[in-house]
Amino acid sequence: MQRTLILGGGAGGIVASSVLKKAMGSAMQVTVVDRQPNHYYPASFPLLMIGERKPADITRELKRLERKKIETLLDEVVEIDTAGHRVITKQRCLDYDYLIIALGVEYHPETVPGFREFVLNAYQFEEVVEINRRLTDFSSGQIVFFISSLPYKCPPAPYEIMFLLDQFFRQRGLRHQVKLTIVTPDFSPEPLAGPKVGQSVRKMLAERGMELITEAKILAVEKHALILDHGTKIPADLLLGIAPHWTPEVLRHTDLVDSSGYIEVDQHTMETRHPGIYAIGDAAAVKLPVMGAYAPKAAIFAHYQAEVVARNIARLARGLSPGFRYAGNGA
Ligand SMILES: Cc1cc2nc3c(=O)[nH]c(=O)nc-3n(C[C@H](O)[C@H](O)[C@H](O)COP(=O)(O)OP(=O)(O)OC[C@H]3O[C@@H](n4cnc5c(N)ncnc54)[C@H](O)[C@@H]3O)c2cc1C
Repeated sequence: MQRTLILGGGAGGIVASSVLKKAMGSAMQVTVVDRQPNHYYPASFPLLMIGERKPADITRELKRLERKKIETLLDEVVEIDTAGHRVITKQRCLDYDYLIIALGVEYHPETVPGFREFVLNAYQFEEVVEINRRLTDFSSGQIVFFISSLPYKCPPAPYEIMFLLDQFFRQRGLRHQVKLTIVTPDFSPEPLAGPKVGQSVRKMLAERGMELITEAKILAVEKHALILDHGTKIPADLLLGIAPHWTPEVLRHTDLVDSSGYIEVDQHTMETRHPGIYAIGDAAAVKLPVMGAYAPKAAIFAHYQAEVVARNIARLARGLSPGFRYAGNGA
């Protein structure tokens, strides 16, 4: 029996494991390694924030995959030995025939002075639960939501959060007492979606009385203020933010990554420079053909990439040529 090892049981890893197991059955051992026992569904974090979801609604144990005969290991990946075809975890040494890296990104709030002390990270499950608690007690003042740096995953999410905050306070009859401000390093909301989307999001924010500050360089955070370049100080009673995204530490010491730390892949097969090793999702360096920027990092793209990679591995394992190609599809 051949073995496919999948590093990361998030959006990409879960789909890859399910598609591959379904295609291969008992002819392929599929193993998913993750350091967290649970998957928290991030697309529902904005609803969790305003209390329209409960933590249990969006939490699933990874070991549920075992029902599909997918092996799950609760362990931390510490080294990827591409030459030796093995992965070292805290507790094991794992061999593989095919490897799919789906380790996502890590947050580094410590790189923004004051973030850890004064900001709640809107992209981190436990802190979203805390945001919900704070919002419930918040009746007047200024809420500042900021994006620390680029790239960050799911570019529409910050705007979705702003509109939900607006709705949350309107429903409580408190909106006139709460000032809502969003601060972004982008020159426009969601620039990769094109100028029409940017203009329409700007208009929607303005219509609902929300302030938008673009091209912001975040320097630091104080207890009640966000500090931008040129000494601009934005006062805040509650600071919500998106911490800087880095690729996982374990990848940065490999020859798999580009200068930013993301994994270089063939843009159509997601195969890395090493045959039989693939990278999908947020950790992969998928570039836009025109601008050269990274394509947006989102679960929908991880999902389609996972399907392509899993189907191609199934073909290779049967001695067939891998015919599936990722075409940048999303929705
Ligand atoms: C608030 C929010 C809203 C979003 N909304 C949407 C949306 O509406 N639509 C959409 O398409 N996308 C959305 N996204 C983005 C989406 O969640 C990510 O793009 C997607 O999860 C990426 O999938 P992935 O498999 O690459 O990584 P992840 O899902 O992040 O999974 C990575 C996994 O790797 C594990 N891991 C990392 N390092 C190690 C290690 N060393 N050892 C062991 N395990 C490790 C992690 O524990 C994690 O489980 C949203 C994200 C957020 C935060």
